[in-house]
Amino acid sequence: MEIFSRDGIDYNIEDCSVIDIFNYNELIVLKVIREILQEDHSLCRCPICLEDLFALSMNSIPPRYIQITSIKKYVNSGSFIDEKTIRKKVLEAWEKIKSKPGH
Ligand SMILES: [Zn+2]
Repeated sequence: MEIFSRDGIDYNIEDCSVIDIFNYNELIVLKVIREILQEDHSLCRCPICLEDLFALSMNSIPPRYIQITSIKKYVNSGSFIDEKTIRKKVLEAWEKIKSKPGH
């Protein structure tokens, strides 16, 4: 299977599209990374470090795939992972990257 971009991924299973199922934590990781970059201007902003940060953060946080219409339900559920916990994981990922940058 060769995939060159997200646009090349087929999200159809028989007659059902699963395109609207997404990892909620991905949105929070993106939000937190943007906030951290605004707060700390000393962090490297090269594409390698930012990609490593996103990937390392995502791998350290359990995924929470939900339907796009179920955000409210998920946020009030027992499996919800709060932003504070996610921020801690992103900061841990930054520490790892800072100590051994890939650039
Ligand atoms: Zn860098």
